Amino acid sequence: MTELPKIAIFDGQPLFDEPLHVNQPNAGNRDLFNGFLDASWETHWFTNNGPISQRLERELEEHLQVKNCVLASSGTSALSMTACALELSDEVIIPSFTFISTPHALKWAGIRPVFCDIDPLTATIDVDHCIDLITSDTTAIIGTHVWGVPCDIDRLERVCADAGIHLLFDAAHAFGCTFDGKPIARYGRAEIFSFHATKVFHTFEGGAVTTNDDQLAAQLRKIRNFGFNDVGDVEMLGMNAKMSEIHAAMGLANLAAIDETIAISKKCYNAYREQLVGIAGIELRSPDSRELSNYHYVVAEISAEKFGLSRDKLMRILHAENILARDYFHPGCHNMEPYRTESVKEGICMPATDNLGQNVLIFPGGTGVSSDQIKQIGDYLRIVQLNAELISTMVDKIEPFELHVESP
Ligand SMILES: *Cc1c(COP(=O)(O)O)cnc(C)c1O
Repeated sequence: MTELPKIAIFDGQPLFDEPLHVNQPNAGNRDLFNGFLDASWETHWFTNNGPISQRLERELEEHLQVKNCVLASSGTSALSMTACALELSDEVIIPSFTFISTPHALKWAGIRPVFCDIDPLTATIDVDHCIDLITSDTTAIIGTHVWGVPCDIDRLERVCADAGIHLLFDAAHAFGCTFDGKPIARYGRAEIFSFHATKVFHTFEGGAVTTNDDQLAAQLRKIRNFGFNDVGDVEMLGMNAKMSEIHAAMGLANLAAIDETIAISKKCYNAYREQLVGIAGIELRSPDSRELSNYHYVVAEISAEKFGLSRDKLMRILHAENILARDYFHPGCHNMEPYRTESVKEGICMPATDNLGQNVLIFPGGTGVSSDQIKQIGDYLRIVQLNAELISTMVDKIEPFELHVESP
């Protein structure tokens, strides 16, 4: 019998002493951050549309080449307040293959999310399926630019115009990415960003709505501040979705470093491309070479048949090595509560979402991994692939254990 490779899952030494995370938070220019902190200490202006958050809005408008950037306390609150500003109601079509925040934000706004399948090539909303799902109750479509890959924006614009409904984008993954050579931020009626610490550009926690529609931006500014207008009267239903000054300071510190951050991530992505080439059953997804990408997500698809191990088994053995690779959006939002019960009742089926959810694997990337580490990962995967059949049988005999996938 062939000897088992001495890998961590069979009690070998883990490949890495410290865990390698997907989306290890970036930290920008610390001196700049401290300077802003000192400034707000001087004035005691800590929140309520202070000078630092105003400056971040102006700098982001310039960076993203969009007329309005309305900061918010999170991507989720930015989504909810946009739904509220546009008075969306009844049904909104969204992909099932998105972060659970997208349907939750709608549900909080009293809207029923209607789940749509994805185009397997781009992992973004399947426009043909969208068309089938539009009813007289549909008030909008929200596409998610998954891993920064733009949705089929042109076609969605035509479909929404024909149906007389709004088009929005969840651009939480897409900071620094372009469509048609222009920054994602200007498309649809508005685009929603998350500035959570695990995103390529972040403010610890935070988000924004970007739009070229001045009237919509003015509404959003009121809604995020309890519905108050400029003269202090409450005009409408509002919430508290303001970004504090310290959060905005982190944004300015990260914005100053964003080109460098993306350059490091690109180098990391290219190192994976070099290392994974020729390993049967691991297919790295590549961004469209005509567009800019943020290279924040190293996305691979595992073919169990060709690799010899399923994605889940591979993920288990990688975790034992301290390589905390992750699945994504599995098992799809339509299969998560509070949506699951109804999906089961309606017999909803999403073949492309299910398939990608079962096979996709995101490797630790961005600024948290070095080229040397990626070489080690590549060499390791080659050995695993050569011994896949034996490893697969042996892994079946090990008691299952909890996967640890939380980022710091
Ligand atoms: C992160 C994320 C969100 C939510 O953003 P928060 O800032 O965490 O509220 C929404 N949609 C997608 C696709 C995301 O990845």
